[in-house]
Amino acid sequence: MGAEIIVIGELNVDLVASGLHSEPKLGKEILAADFRIALGSASAIFACGAARLGHAITFISKVGVDDFGRFCLNALQQVDISTANVLQSQESTTGVTIVLSTREDRALVTCLGAIAELRYSEIQAPLFQGHRHLHLTSYFLQHALRPDFLAIIRQAKQNGLTVSFDPNSDPSQAWGNDIWRIFAEVDIVFLNEVEALAITQRAKLPDAVNILEKATVCLVVKLGSKGAIGAQNGEKILVPGFKVQAIDTTGAGDTFAAGFVHGRLLGRGMAECLLLGNAAGALSTRGPGGTAGQVDQATLDKFVRENVPADLQSFATQWPSLESEPEP
Ligand code: ADP
Repeated sequence: MGAEIIVIGELNVDLVASGLHSEPKLGKEILAADFRIALGSASAIFACGAARLGHAITFISKVGVDDFGRFCLNALQQVDISTANVLQSQESTTGVTIVLSTREDRALVTCLGAIAELRYSEIQAPLFQGHRHLHLTSYFLQHALRPDFLAIIRQAKQNGLTVSFDPNSDPSQAWGNDIWRIFAEVDIVFLNEVEALAITQRAKLPDAVNILEKATVCLVVKLGSKGAIGAQNGEKILVPGFKVQAIDTTGAGDTFAAGFVHGRLLGRGMAECLLLGNAAGALSTRGPGGTAGQVDQATLDKFVRENVPADLQSFATQWPSLESEPEP
């Protein structure tokens, strides 16, 4: 069987220092309780999540010729994702994100390296045939690819693929207008709450969602442990999150997206896709890094069976609920 899902995106390692004794400060040395190297990047965490759920993946990305690049390739191969389409830059090093994590929050420092170099002209082979879905990520990090996002989306759609898009955050916080053109053309847009507010420059989520739902075919806003909202065809629903012992929420949004797209490819409706996303995201927080807690389809289904009331309709509620603030 050929691959079902194409992922085109960035690839980097996460260097995670956790349990910091105090906040990091320039000019000061502090101690961390733990350090580990993990596969990072929204695109790779999504790809691994979808692969664990049984989908064959074509993964297109770029790394440097170095140890971190080899680490990324190994991690992908471990979940049977072919690295044949991961290009190797002779000029740049593999992308790195340094994560400095306290109990309350974390600081991220990213060095883009080869992430910023991947070009559409390098990957234009007749890629899309035989696939069902394209997932695109990290719009603001992929400097050389960004001008061609629309062309990639259009080519995928001409080949009959559905397309999902998770822009992730803009480190410059400028966001810009171009992203709205992409929102209009893809089938699913994934955002978290902070991103939804920042992109729309609104202070309240209902206001942000009202704007975004008019600009998208299907909008999904992830709300951390609270679950996720889906807005489509004039309907907005909230599916609450699952209670789990979360130890690391890194990449939960990407594993959520894998669960949601998995539902879509199975032909499920909005409520069930949100449910599968929430379950995949929640389970992923039980392991360190973005991929260690990801589960296969049987484990996901069992978790959902054991944790959701039989009546899914009562689980999914209209959003915003009546007690939420009215529209202006
Ligand atoms: P992002 O990682 O993109 O910021 P979120 O933090 O909202 O996204 O997490 C994505 C999804 O993962 C949530 O919508 C939820 O389903 C699940 N999730 C995240 N954190 C938790 C948590 N602490 N407990 C349960 N589920 C969680």
